[in-house]
Amino acid sequence: MTGDARATGGMQPPDPWGFEEAPVETWADILAPQYLDLALLTAFIALAMVSFRRKSVPLKFLTFAAAIGYLGFAKSYLISITNIFSVVDWNWPVVKYNLAWYLFFGFTLVSTLLWGRLYCGRVCAYGALTQTLDAILPAGWRVDVPRSIEQRASYIKFGILGGVLIYYLVTHDVLIYQFTEPFWMFGLFGTPAMWAALTVLLIATLFVRNLYCRFLCPVGAALGLLSYLTVFRIQRWSECTTCRICQKACQWGAIEGPRILMTECVRCDDCERLYADQQKCPHWRIIDYNDRKRLVLPLQPVR
Ligand code: SF4
Ligand code: SF4
Repeated sequence: MTGDARATGGMQPPDPWGFEEAPVETWADILAPQYLDLALLTAFIALAMVSFRRKSVPLKFLTFAAAIGYLGFAKSYLISITNIFSVVDWNWPVVKYNLAWYLFFGFTLVSTLLWGRLYCGRVCAYGALTQTLDAILPAGWRVDVPRSIEQRASYIKFGILGGVLIYYLVTHDVLIYQFTEPFWMFGLFGTPAMWAALTVLLIATLFVRNLYCRFLCPVGAALGLLSYLTVFRIQRWSECTTCRICQKACQWGAIEGPRILMTECVRCDDCERLYADQQKCPHWRIIDYNDRKRLVLPLQPVR
């Protein structure tokens, strides 16, 4: 019993300061403001996965529209270099209040480990915007970057990733992100100089497809490095060494003869649709030719 309680004959004195016990927070209280976000994000992930598994072009563009509108402008859910800073510092938001964000981050991590840069090919709002622009604009506007330049330029993003990480480790200046990625545009903030730089970048993207994603994005570089661990990779045929139709079709410079460059491939499906096309992919024609030969051979006269 406290001294105060003894003095009042065992009765607790009234609280002179007016403090009340903090109400106990239940899971229902915690989840209530997050239900809608969790439901919409789950629906988006389901759409992205169905479009990916079915290799469906219309569903892919529907996913892009949802990524730009919902993940980009409505929620500003994008994986950013600042998330990589959080990994470096091991500094994370409180899980129970940020369930949708953890679902988003977890999906990005797991899908990269399973299939590669699916995030870049289908989920990232900026990537969705530039891929949509690329599909809408006349093909004649495009400047095809020569293969030798494309290969060298693709290393720039790894240099930017390394440079930004070293800068952050030395200065702990998080604001460096605004000079290396344009994702702040979805929050509709930024200085006039940042908007001017973004305008230049978007105009350049009209002519060089997916310019930022292929050559400059540090997040794409980090996911590309993680993609070395990817489990389910795109299957290649033995004929791919010489055929190279899909190498020419890949907009990301991710096919090199028989090899898929996991750092560059964003699982856009273009080559996989080609592999499955029995009219276009020589693999099927060769199988067909061999099958016919097998059928015809027994009919030849025995000498
Ligand atoms: S490369 Fe960067 S901007 Fe492009 S889709 Fe990937 S994360 Fe987004
Ligand atoms: S065309 Fe194939 S290799 Fe190229 S990015 Fe798309 S899925 Fe990857």
